[in-house]
Amino acid sequence: MVRQPTLHGSQQADDDRDLRPQRLNEMVGQREVFQRLEIAVDAARKRGEPLGHILFDGPPGLGKTTFATCIPHELGVSLQIASGAALAAPKDLIPYLTNAEEGSVLFVDEIHRLPKTVEEFLYPAMEDFRIDLILGEGVNARTLNMNLKPFTLIGATTRTGLLSAPLRDRFQMREHLDFYTIAELSEIVCRNADKLNVAIDDDAAQHIAHRSRGTPRVANNRLRWVRDYVTSKADGRITQNLAIDALKMQGIDRLGLDGQDRKYLETIERVFQGGPVGVEAVAHTMNTATDTLIDEVEPFLLRSELVIRTPRGRKLTAAGYQHLGVAPPPPAGTAEAEAQSKLFES
Ligand code: ADP
Repeated sequence: MVRQPTLHGSQQADDDRDLRPQRLNEMVGQREVFQRLEIAVDAARKRGEPLGHILFDGPPGLGKTTFATCIPHELGVSLQIASGAALAAPKDLIPYLTNAEEGSVLFVDEIHRLPKTVEEFLYPAMEDFRIDLILGEGVNARTLNMNLKPFTLIGATTRTGLLSAPLRDRFQMREHLDFYTIAELSEIVCRNADKLNVAIDDDAAQHIAHRSRGTPRVANNRLRWVRDYVTSKADGRITQNLAIDALKMQGIDRLGLDGQDRKYLETIERVFQGGPVGVEAVAHTMNTATDTLIDEVEPFLLRSELVIRTPRGRKLTAAGYQHLGVAPPPPAGTAEAEAQSKLFES
């Protein structure tokens, strides 16, 4: 079946913002999270009270920012956006807190990157809508308590483990976002092809969905590339064959892994004999930041069981070897393993 696009106002609607759902009911998947949020938003609206603070966690590109930006739309309140990495000191946070209107939402992305001093400054703001300002220095220093308008803090993190327990406990709702199914990603691809004003066959959407690492942001990026490819090479309609050719040209394999993902697996296999190996050592060998591996590369590979995390480090699984097309080493203690280790020693 061919899906024909419906025309939208802007023909150049091609960046993240334009594909981002604006309302909760436009969001695909994450049904349980969606239902809990819908109830919380509805109750806050009925009571005329601000929504409780919410923490979203999960790998990048799964919809944390999208949920956070849909919520104020549902509530009809204003939204301020800050990033944990940019809030180096309490003074950086003060304008956001004092500007927060009654019931409004303050979204702090990468909240695990807040320094301890800023985190502690945030506690009374979250709990009692109050901040304690220290004026002057030394013996002349005095504390001024300042009341804030009740607001909702929405935090997003790729690493909830790095959040301190007192901060985590101050969020009334904690929602974990998981990878999306192929059917959900197909639906996102079809909807977004429509927004991008390009026709797409259902089997082409499925093909892209299968190669999107369970992640809507990846699906959007793949879709944009396939659209460029068909615009340049064909008549502009995305068929399955064109999607296959376009993604092959980008080096994306049947699981949706790209060059960096495969390099990670190959490094563990070739340099570290399949592991276990610490992620820092893999990052050094690949000349990549450890955080990039932990946040962006590993979650999907762990989820796909191509690698596992052991107390001694990362280890390739049988499926990991199979994906690389390499035979796994013989189990330790067997005659074959001994022969192989002798070969290494000689
Ligand atoms: P995160 O904040 O978790 O890194 P984003 O919320 O920025 O991820 O999502 C990246 C993009 O993926 C968004 O711009 C949006 O287009 C798309 N997206 C994410 N979640 C969904 C969803 N549930 N339904 C439809 N599109 C989604």
